[in-house]
Amino acid sequence: MEQRAVSAEGRRTEADRARSGRVRRPDGAVVRPPDAIDVRRRIPPTDRLLRDPRLAVVVDRLGAGVVKAAVHEAQERAREGGISPERVAETALALLPGTASGLRPVINATGVLLHTNLGRAPLSVTARQAVQEAAGPTDVELDLATGVRARRGRSALAVLRERVPRAGAVHVVNNGAAALLLAATVLAADKEIVVSRGELVEIGDGFRLPDLLVSTGARLREVGTTNRTTAADYAAVTGPGTGFVLKVHPSNFRVTGFTRSAGTAELTGLGVPVVVDIGSGLLAPHPALPEEPDADTELRAGASLVTASGDKLLGGPQCGLLLGARDLVRALARHPLARALRVDKLTLAALAATLTGPPTPTALALTADPAVLRARADRIATSLGADGLDVRAVECAATVGGGGAPGVTLPSAALSLPEPYAAALRTGPLPVVGRLESGRCLLDLRAVPEQDDERLAEAVRLARTAREAVPVGAVRPAGEGRA
Ligand SMILES: *Cc1c(COP(=O)(O)O)cnc(C)c1O
Repeated sequence: MEQRAVSAEGRRTEADRARSGRVRRPDGAVVRPPDAIDVRRRIPPTDRLLRDPRLAVVVDRLGAGVVKAAVHEAQERAREGGISPERVAETALALLPGTASGLRPVINATGVLLHTNLGRAPLSVTARQAVQEAAGPTDVELDLATGVRARRGRSALAVLRERVPRAGAVHVVNNGAAALLLAATVLAADKEIVVSRGELVEIGDGFRLPDLLVSTGARLREVGTTNRTTAADYAAVTGPGTGFVLKVHPSNFRVTGFTRSAGTAELTGLGVPVVVDIGSGLLAPHPALPEEPDADTELRAGASLVTASGDKLLGGPQCGLLLGARDLVRALARHPLARALRVDKLTLAALAATLTGPPTPTALALTADPAVLRARADRIATSLGADGLDVRAVECAATVGGGGAPGVTLPSAALSLPEPYAAALRTGPLPVVGRLESGRCLLDLRAVPEQDDERLAEAVRLARTAREAVPVGAVRPAGEGRA
């Protein structure tokens, strides 16, 4: 079946017909004058196009199917008269996707450090390198010294364990939700999970934590109220039927005013495990985010198990961390469901490299000096202004996003451009996603690594050229405030 490289543009309209020289007769039939038939004969055949050196090299990189689809699309455009037959090869080249993955790299200028729609944490250079190295056969489950099978991902797990010495054992699953799923399945199937009404949260995109928990067969025992829950509320309902007490970090909203909640330390004497879902994956307290929970503090307070995501503030690949009491973590890792939730070798490699490597892009963005951000914005704005663009450097406020540090704003700096730039930048050859604020398109630099400044400036220059041709569309930081 013929695959369309760009299907939306394959639609034929009267205007296309007019361009191709075809006309609709009064009886409704579309006819092609004789010169159009001549044009069709000049369209190069597929096999000749695939031998074109410019396209042939791409076959090795992207695969023959992808290149053929682009070639067929270009031939079709020539048949319709949209392009001349001589331009079929270069049109096919232009239609080819830039990557084999189908994913387009973008510059995150939204000012949301962990933007869920943009894949949350960007990997460090070290972690990217580790993914490359692990892509071929590796010793992920083999001890090379003895030649016998070894624990999967043992080096990544050892590194994680070292970083959280208070955890008796650690395990890694596919994501934060999977970590909770495993805990609920193993510790609370046919039992109750005691949880505060103020912590029954929706993470984002309709994902509600209570739904996930009850899907395992566990029953929820809600205690307290939306704004106030005390240790006595938990104590009143825990007993032999309790699987565990669950504390969930309300990671994307804040309840303020007349509020109260029970800390982990207050819940450890109830005779049941205390599971704490910290969400963001901070392993230790972070000075810039004093309110954000971290694994070490929760374990020190007596948590039996801490669950977290790997691709939020930890700054690593998507995965779910399980950190806690030795026997408990071992029981989770041995459960049959653990096999269904296990992570790929690429994830294990990226996680280990994230934990041992230099500060992650997320950590750097979090601690970036606002004065340095402003200086970068000034520099880019001056350079673009010299080219005659309507651009200025402005101060603004960035957020952590992606399920971390709700309500925290980070002073930042941005390039302010006319609103139509938003769509032009997003749809350009090097997509940049900014945000709209007060009728301007802001490109916030806090989540943009400094080495991308030149590419960002170039994308703006290209967007200026393309701007008139692109329909205006709004870009909203859809991942803001939720994970
Ligand atoms: C993000 C988050 C989750 C879900 O984690 P994923 O890695 O997205 O599956 C669960 N709980 C909390 C508190 C979170 O912030």
